[in-house]
Amino acid sequence: MKKTSPNTRTARGLFALAMIATVSTLIAGGCGGGQKALSRNNVENLLKKGIKPNEMGMVMVLEYHRVLDKESNYTRSIENFKKDLQTLYQKGYRLVTFHDLMTGKINVPAGTTPIVFSFDDSTESQIRYLKQGTETVLDPDCALGIMQTFHRKHSDFGYAALFNYLPTLFEQPTYQKAKVDYLYQNGFELGDHTITHPLLARDTDEQVQKEVAVPIKDMRAVNPNVKVDILCLPNGSIPKNQALMYDGSYEGITYHNKWALLVGSNPFYPVYHYKNPGRLVPRIQAMDYDVQDGSGADGSGYWLRYFDNHPEQRFISDGDSATICAPAYMETRLLANNLPHGVTYVGY
Ligand SMILES: [Zn+2]
Repeated sequence: MKKTSPNTRTARGLFALAMIATVSTLIAGGCGGGQKALSRNNVENLLKKGIKPNEMGMVMVLEYHRVLDKESNYTRSIENFKKDLQTLYQKGYRLVTFHDLMTGKINVPAGTTPIVFSFDDSTESQIRYLKQGTETVLDPDCALGIMQTFHRKHSDFGYAALFNYLPTLFEQPTYQKAKVDYLYQNGFELGDHTITHPLLARDTDEQVQKEVAVPIKDMRAVNPNVKVDILCLPNGSIPKNQALMYDGSYEGITYHNKWALLVGSNPFYPVYHYKNPGRLVPRIQAMDYDVQDGSGADGSGYWLRYFDNHPEQRFISDGDSATICAPAYMETRLLANNLPHGVTYVGY
């Protein structure tokens, strides 16, 4: 044992007392006891590093259609899609699945923001296979190929997306099953985008149920393991009988969707925040924003700029999926019943 001077001993004693006091205050202030104190230590460390977690902040689901050579309405150019990945990565966004985002199970590193990619209409531009000699390969210039290349360089960006399919099912009929199987095996999600892409607001109840039910039956025939519980509303058109977006049946095919996706145009609060939009989920078109003429307002370029200018409104992870960490005053906005099991709120 080392000799210690009386001064050091006193200092240590005081330090120990201070620690006990701090820990008791933390325990008294929280509800999870020691675990909560640990979580608060984690928060203190993040704050020291300049990371201000805000898991009550807003998140985005981006919406893409085709990814082809030239940018146009409903088409993101290959070049711009590559830029999107780079920009999002640099700004600290990380890909998660739609299901994880919507159930509040968010597991991204401290200081980063979860984001979801969704692709509508299942065109070949999203997933294209090419023959290379005797081999079949994923086209490096289709959306999934570009994501795969990017992920190989930056594995921490994540590799996830939701594909909302039509009967075309990525075209290239010979590869349809291979494509769906690949998506399923790699944790990608598939959403129902109807049979004929109608404006559901104009359809009868029976037509709505047919449009929603048949794609589910079709997907079972391709890969029965794929679970479809998301309806992507064509053009964001909501049926008169809104309940039919979620539950219905047609010719013996019954469906139960947990969410319906809109087209455009805003970020939203997480599921455990009182302002969460619930089951009808807004999305943001991936497009550039022109500050001069205002074109692209409400698109991804606009919102990325918005969060650069309002960082306090952006979801920032604490890197611990067992806690929801945000400034203490935000706890009044919490819907505790919507927290995933075992997750607690840590305010600072
Ligand atoms: Zn569509």
